[in-house]
Amino acid sequence: MTAVSDFSLRPALVAPPAPLPADRSGEGGGTAAVLRTVLHGGPLARTALARTTGLSPAAVSRYTAELIGLGLLRELPPPAGPPRAGRPQVPVDIDPSHHAACGVHIALDFTTYAVVDLRGRVVAHERRPHLGEAGGVLDDIRRHLPRFVARHAAGRSVLGLGVVTGGWVDSEQGTVVEHTPLGWRDVPVRRVLGAATRLPVHVDGHARALAQAELLFGAGAGRSELVQLFVGNVVDAAIAAGGTVLRGRRSGAGDVAHLALGGPAGHACACGRRGCLQAAVSELAVAERAFGAGIIPAPEFQLLIALAAEGNRRAIRVLRERLRTVGRAAALLLDLINPEVLVVAEQAAIHFPELLPDLYEEVAAHSHMCADPERAVVPTTFGTRVLAVAAGAVVLDVVYRRPMELRTARTARTA
Ligand SMILES: [Zn+2]
Repeated sequence: MTAVSDFSLRPALVAPPAPLPADRSGEGGGTAAVLRTVLHGGPLARTALARTTGLSPAAVSRYTAELIGLGLLRELPPPAGPPRAGRPQVPVDIDPSHHAACGVHIALDFTTYAVVDLRGRVVAHERRPHLGEAGGVLDDIRRHLPRFVARHAAGRSVLGLGVVTGGWVDSEQGTVVEHTPLGWRDVPVRRVLGAATRLPVHVDGHARALAQAELLFGAGAGRSELVQLFVGNVVDAAIAAGGTVLRGRRSGAGDVAHLALGGPAGHACACGRRGCLQAAVSELAVAERAFGAGIIPAPEFQLLIALAAEGNRRAIRVLRERLRTVGRAAALLLDLINPEVLVVAEQAAIHFPELLPDLYEEVAAHSHMCADPERAVVPTTFGTRVLAVAAGAVVLDVVYRRPMELRTARTARTA
């Protein structure tokens, strides 16, 4: 068990984004437009905010005052220099000191706990092993979370709890409908953890959570069309259009696990068919085959990563092959959606960026739409903190979409 305090975040791999115009601000209206414009382009003076959002100076003043009152924005000291005519240009910026999001990511054999600030930076995270059984995992979260929050939220008000995992997650109902590797079916995560923690609980699939994180803080900041491909023990995709992540009926959109990319002669899948994407590239399946081939002494994916880091050629070949299959999946998604950017969260892409040309080559060979894979396909912005950021992002997404709900929540609490 490790606890890490860290404010660092890998820089986005793309040019700084243009601020979001007000007419693309979505459901939260002017306050959300102001908040997101400051997030993507701040610090900004109110005059600059009015210019970029297209809102009137009076409206910007009103929304800014509301957001400062909620502890979401703060005023910075005016820039130094000789006094200028007119009112001083006081810049406003995101206030990361006041609030925090709490997140829990449930993987196959461990749970990641995280505190994430308003800029999506991981303030603290901790990993605890678990045995996988739903009741036991939720019970452990229920018991451990209050201690973790007390230790790491450090006086910040906690905006909510994000619970994120793979497979089919119904975010509206707050249930994990089906997570095959964990053996979970219809697990009412929000009901159980909402009652235990008394926090607003947001439950989502990790590909969708990461797509939200990339749109807010990463490669998708200021963009509106994005595809997120997550390749871990489960394989998921999420599609964002018009700045909003597509959910589909019962949040079932983005299930790419059983795309027949391996062909009829591919590896056997748990679903009964052969050649499914997940059977080809899941960490579990790849580790088992590498173990069977005598490359690693136990069927654990981290052993393969460690061996590749030492320069072992057989381990590297396995990872390159896997990246090529991921590249074929990326090519298919690029042609189907034609997004501005496709983000890949996959361990070899995180640890060994020098292997990415394999993925790019495969994208170029299989996509009809994508002329420049190195620009269109990027590894996750969040590096090894990807699970922690995903868990916090589902809470922060709600804040950046509908900031005024914080006032309602506060009124409700004090009523
Ligand atoms: Zn399958």
